[in-house]
Amino acid sequence: PRVRLYFVSKNAYSSQVEYKPIRSVLVANRGEIAIRVFRACTELGIKSVAVYSEQDKMHMHRQKADESYLVGKGLPPVEAYLNIPEIIRVCKENDVDAVHPGYGFLSERSDFAQAVIDAGLRFIGPSPKVVQNMGDKVAARVAAIEAGVPIVPGTDGPVTTKEEALEFCKMHGLPVIFKAAYGGGGRGMRVVRKMEEVEESFQRASSEAKAAFGNGAMFIEKFIERPRHIEVQLLGDKAGNVVHLYERDCSVQRRHQKVVEIAPAPRLPIELRDKMTEAAVRLACHVGYENAGTVEFLCDESGNFYFIEVNARLQVEHTVTEEITGIDLVQSQIRIAEGMTLPELGYTQENIQPRGYAIQCRVTTEDPANDFQPNTGRLEVFRSGEGMGIRLDSASAYAGAIISPYYDSLLVKVIAHAGDLQSSAAKMNRALREFRIRGVKTNIPFLLNVLENQKFLNGVLDTYFIDEHPQLFK
Ligand code: ADP
Repeated sequence: PRVRLYFVSKNAYSSQVEYKPIRSVLVANRGEIAIRVFRACTELGIKSVAVYSEQDKMHMHRQKADESYLVGKGLPPVEAYLNIPEIIRVCKENDVDAVHPGYGFLSERSDFAQAVIDAGLRFIGPSPKVVQNMGDKVAARVAAIEAGVPIVPGTDGPVTTKEEALEFCKMHGLPVIFKAAYGGGGRGMRVVRKMEEVEESFQRASSEAKAAFGNGAMFIEKFIERPRHIEVQLLGDKAGNVVHLYERDCSVQRRHQKVVEIAPAPRLPIELRDKMTEAAVRLACHVGYENAGTVEFLCDESGNFYFIEVNARLQVEHTVTEEITGIDLVQSQIRIAEGMTLPELGYTQENIQPRGYAIQCRVTTEDPANDFQPNTGRLEVFRSGEGMGIRLDSASAYAGAIISPYYDSLLVKVIAHAGDLQSSAAKMNRALREFRIRGVKTNIPFLLNVLENQKFLNGVLDTYFIDEHPQLFK
């Protein structure tokens, strides 16, 4: 029998949560995630509202919403989606009562969450205070310590001089990883293995961070050798109830960025899974986490796990969790924002059981033969793989779509679900082979190599997987 976890904080149930239906949701985002949220709204009978930049005038996400409004006229492509006053204005002028931030853009900006609330609207996500605390690496680590969750040994705050860097390395030993304090998305990291290289590496990493993120401050952490990246999906309601929806393995990374995600994590010992899910729930209860969120961990070969960060938002790879649990995370987010509690939604920990294995491949318009450089142009031909157990989440996957250089290169997320990892990989492989894409290059040949790799099929994964298999690039 499985360990049953269902955490109810002290004041759960005692406080009556007011239920207030949402009639209209604006998505402050673009692309596939905007469409993902519109679909959930439509299914719930809620009006969906899009915003779009000038560059996205012809983009699909605009057409998938009930209404759409231009923002950021005259602004560069990304800034349109970061324009808080204009987004709030669109909400006010068009009878919107809730805002979903998607991922990226404003999704982890507490000032945005606050601006939404100050405008009398509901923010579909955690409270601004939680968004702020979880986005601040130092505060998040303190919260983890308080909640009794193990963290990677690291500096207490950002480090700016090579002397401080050297001192940390002497005290904690090598290897270490330098991380840009203001970086993210897997960028701005550097591993150091030799004491004589610490100072120079720090200088270089810090000036790169300054150039890329406008600030050279760095965090230093012990580098965990051969880690697996395992993250726990959570849902929390306004009454203080928290459940987990099991975990995902996101170890298949290229340059610290996720490429293939799997749920649940293959070959994860049950006791370790229970410890990690329990730690994630404990942390969420401790900080008063509401709505959907993810706690990320690294696991080492000896079965130790370390908290790395909380993503206080929906993630790109939420789909694989939906497939194995049968729970629509975006609908759940909206219901929770309306004031429904987890028991009212029927989500008790016992009711949430994983079924089979789901794999997500991020099909990008990047050319594996040319160092994954983004490829742009017109999709002359587009036919997708389909069939039982295959799900596609996309925004530009159709013949005639223009792939622009302005935004990220995600073309379509392909998700396969089957009874076990091998069957799921076989389904994914078959579906990816059905794709016919002409006009832009994609990473499908690379993904097929991953799916055919014996280690992958056996679920023997760590974050070195891609780097250690140069044959994947052929
Ligand atoms: P970001 O916020 O930029 O996404 P994360 O802290 O989430 O960065 O780390 C992204 C990836 O970098 C992890 O999944 C892991 O592969 C690697 N990484 C981060 N910290 C460490 C560490 N201390 N030891 C080993 N690998 C790490």
